[in-house]
Amino acid sequence: MMIVPSPLRLRLDSAALVANWRWLAAQGCAAACGAAIKADGYGLGARAVMERLAAAGCRDFFVASWAEAAALMPLAGQVSLSVLHGAGADDMVAARTLPARPVLNSVEQVQRWREAGEGRPCDVMIDTGMNRLGLRVEEAMSGALDGLTIEILLSHLASADEDSDQNAAQLAAFRSIRERIRARRYSLANSAGVCLGADYAFDLTRPGIALYGGTPRREAEGQIRQVVHPEARVLQVRTVRAGESVGYGATWAAPRATRVAIANLGYADGYLRCHAGTGGATWQGCVLPLIGRVSMDLTAFDASDADGIGEGDWLGIDYDLPARAAASGLSQYELLTGLGARFARDWR
Ligand SMILES: *Cc1c(COP(=O)(O)O)cnc(C)c1O
Repeated sequence: MMIVPSPLRLRLDSAALVANWRWLAAQGCAAACGAAIKADGYGLGARAVMERLAAAGCRDFFVASWAEAAALMPLAGQVSLSVLHGAGADDMVAARTLPARPVLNSVEQVQRWREAGEGRPCDVMIDTGMNRLGLRVEEAMSGALDGLTIEILLSHLASADEDSDQNAAQLAAFRSIRERIRARRYSLANSAGVCLGADYAFDLTRPGIALYGGTPRREAEGQIRQVVHPEARVLQVRTVRAGESVGYGATWAAPRATRVAIANLGYADGYLRCHAGTGGATWQGCVLPLIGRVSMDLTAFDASDADGIGEGDWLGIDYDLPARAAASGLSQYELLTGLGARFARDWR
């Protein structure tokens, strides 16, 4: 097959990924530190993330669906994989055959797992106040789980990224569940929950966003390293005359003759229109502000300061997650998971 080089790529920093995992693990003290790798590892590539973290000592991985679990087969022997959406009616063939555990989310799912009748271990999600997935505390307490072999009992924090009273309330509810429901391990904290302190860590934490360079709370500021560095090639450099405009809707007009670099990147790659006005790129240390509207496959940058830039050069796209989220109105999660399939994933 012909190898066609991609004109846009994510430079992915393995050392930063592992350093972030180690920092998160250290916050949990004695707790093990797992990894949420759903949505294809938040857009980085679930298999590549799993391999790197498993090599660093991570043993517990979480995906959303059985399709995501199947895509990770075969698993390395020592890793454990949990499927957060549990055991739906259509999932039972996969749930019976793949070496992964469902996170049972309702009395109906518990019943379905019992009827499958293999007595294999499962995980269970208890809802302690988020009202998304999970058995209600009363349901769990009234015998619905009797006789199950529960590997991990989970709950999920709704507001851990804020200083909300809901955090302490969910912690208290989870502690009381832990007194009453037997499981081999207990797990509550996502990335932001890890930052709330070791009280929230229990036996196992489940960070996602912070592994990939997101800063979930101020406690993580300066600790988490950027992992994802998008880069796009310059397709053309042109000089726009004073008074001429650039792009759809002519939203930017040149105040003076301006060198403009057109990059091979657009909203179809997840680089959305909300970056207009604040986005930018760098080339050999020069700053190139985004100008005009982002198109589907093209974005224009003001290359006034980029002396010598030309066709084929690589631009580094500004993608510091907290800064980009603040400027664009997108969440750090959306910034990562929106990055499209046209980027080559280039791990270093
Ligand atoms: C996505 C997810 C996580 C990871 O959350 P982050 O905020 O990305 O750290 C942990 N647990 C559950 C149940 C999740 O769905």
